Amino acid sequence: MTVRFIPLGGLGEIGMNCMAIEHDGRIVVLDCGVIFDGRGLGVDVVHADWEWLVDRQRDVVALVLTHGHEDHIGAVSYFLRDFDVPVYGPAYALALVKNRIAEHAWHRASDIDYRVIGEGSRVDLAGMTFRPWQVTHSMPTCFGLVIETSEGVVVHTGDFKIDDTPPPGDRFAREVVEPFVEKGIALVLSDSTNALTDGRSGGELGVSEALQEIVAAAKGRVIVGLFASNVHRMRMLFEVARKTERHVVPLGRSIDTHLRIATELGILPDPHDVLVTREQGRTLPPSRTLVLATGSQGEPQAALSRLAAGSHPDLVIGEGDLVVLSSRVIPGNERPILDLVEGLERRGIRVLHRNLDPRVHVSGHAHKDEQRSLLEWLRPRAFLPVHGTYVHLRAHGQIAREAGVPEVALALNGEVVQLAEGKLRVVDRVWSGRIHIDKGGEPVDGRVLADRRSVAEWGEAVVSFAVDREGKLLGEPKITTRGVVVEADEPDFLVDACDAVAHAVREIKTPRLVIDDAQLEDAARRGLRRFFGAELGKKPIVSVLVHRVG
Ligand SMILES: [Zn+2]
Ligand SMILES: [Zn+2]
Repeated sequence: MTVRFIPLGGLGEIGMNCMAIEHDGRIVVLDCGVIFDGRGLGVDVVHADWEWLVDRQRDVVALVLTHGHEDHIGAVSYFLRDFDVPVYGPAYALALVKNRIAEHAWHRASDIDYRVIGEGSRVDLAGMTFRPWQVTHSMPTCFGLVIETSEGVVVHTGDFKIDDTPPPGDRFAREVVEPFVEKGIALVLSDSTNALTDGRSGGELGVSEALQEIVAAAKGRVIVGLFASNVHRMRMLFEVARKTERHVVPLGRSIDTHLRIATELGILPDPHDVLVTREQGRTLPPSRTLVLATGSQGEPQAALSRLAAGSHPDLVIGEGDLVVLSSRVIPGNERPILDLVEGLERRGIRVLHRNLDPRVHVSGHAHKDEQRSLLEWLRPRAFLPVHGTYVHLRAHGQIAREAGVPEVALALNGEVVQLAEGKLRVVDRVWSGRIHIDKGGEPVDGRVLADRRSVAEWGEAVVSFAVDREGKLLGEPKITTRGVVVEADEPDFLVDACDAVAHAVREIKTPRLVIDDAQLEDAARRGLRRFFGAELGKKPIVSVLVHRVG
């Protein structure tokens, strides 16, 4: 028997994690996340293309989730359209999945088989035994997995860090793994997010002390921008509010969602003594206000961007107020975050972020020293870095070699990694790719996206004209454009464009009696693109409508 690991997402990028584990002919899918597409093409989320799994549908026995971040659970509702399997995961992650599915009106949510796993659980799937172990990360209840297979014990760290004084409930459960370390671990799969960053990620305790100090010294409002899933940090900010006699105003829908779920699950003690509604927040004196806001990545519709623009319906901030960005910069978001800081500072608002004060945030992902000490503890025979771009994976592989791991494999999405007789090898490849989902929840074909990109770049023109039965032009063509010229300012330009089309259509040479539609369309398109090329130096997308009369 062999065990095979088939990453479909997350190996080659940071995001859309999804890996199939095949054992004894059956498959368990581990995590099912999304990545975001910032190109402005109407794409809501992107997830792994699991076409290969659909071909093996009957062999897929379960989906197992490690924790509730979007890059691990964001595609579950789409996955469940194709697979009718039980979904295992920590209570917090499953609550987020249920919440998302309830928002997706197209989803039939009634018959999903959710199975909560917790510390001490053991689940037998596809001839393997899965045991979750609590790891420290940046949201409640994050698990790594100990997986007993016919080829030995496999340890998956999930997303993790090592914090010597972790927040309550976010400890690192070494004791679950320890008995397996003594017997020997065949393979470790581990989070490569910070494999390029030296040192250690740092502790939450330091963030807590820094924020306490900053809020205590502030005279006006303090607005803390953070990821709503970072419930521990919210809990700590409630503490800060109590100590500094401020009330907490939550701004942003995802903050409401996480506060509700965390309170319901008993992860967050009911904060009603310091929490006020947005309406109450409006009448509070600034020096008594601590705002928790979403949008620390500069997302245009989120609370922070609207505060920066002065367009938030519930709160106007200004001179004397302080914004603290207590979060990391997700690669690719540098520009919107700069715009956010620019907008805030222009309104006289002081902004503190990691570049000015590194204490205001620490990463939830292990840095190099933690990655190394994890491998020195587990001493596996083989290592497969996961959760990273190729550059991250390669750097993490190097750390493993330096830590003395004998077998290190590097794989990207679609590559089949086999563990057999202590050897870890890429043995095959399967179909992999990306599926772009639009705001209506439907996949968008790659050709449609290519069209959208071309239209965004070059604009488009639609030309229509009538012809008689033989294909001879009747009257003048009509043209409308979008994103090419300001039509009202350019009447002559459009007349010339129509002439160019008419000319091209009249010039069609054919031995046949009747000119067919394809020839007419082709001639009109070529004629118009030639005209645009000559006049504007660019060639918009051209659509042609031919009306045959008679
Ligand atoms: Zn995570
Ligand atoms: Zn992650």
